[in-house]
Amino acid sequence: MTDDNKMPKSDKEWRDKLTSQQYEVLREKGTEPPFSGKYVHKAEGGVYKCVACGNLLFNADAQFDSGTGWPSFDQAIPGSTKQIKDNSYGMNRIEVVCSKCGSHLGHLFDDGPTNTKHRYCMNSVCLSLDNDQSKNM
Ligand SMILES: [Zn+2]
Repeated sequence: MTDDNKMPKSDKEWRDKLTSQQYEVLREKGTEPPFSGKYVHKAEGGVYKCVACGNLLFNADAQFDSGTGWPSFDQAIPGSTKQIKDNSYGMNRIEVVCSKCGSHLGHLFDDGPTNTKHRYCMNSVCLSLDNDQSKNM
């Protein structure tokens, strides 16, 4: 497991690795404008990875069209994310970060439409969809 050695350590290394929009969301907890991302609508299959480190985050099966303008999931792949209390902007929200690289991904809400009641509200710029089904069977 030498992958961690390749992860950026300094702010400059993160800036070099990510686009400016990715940097703003992943490292500065920004939010992309709704309906701006490429994963707003449910994918046909595959698995979403962390764009920064490749950590497997969400199966496309868990995605649903929430109408919010952000990619939404009713569950994350176990162990792939960490949840942190976020009281910024005067709201009590749960921030979701990648468990491997600590990058900000979005927020978790408890008003989801499925049995889990979870609504992982993610930013498309944080995700990379891997459509290769053969690896996920
Ligand atoms: Zn990551």
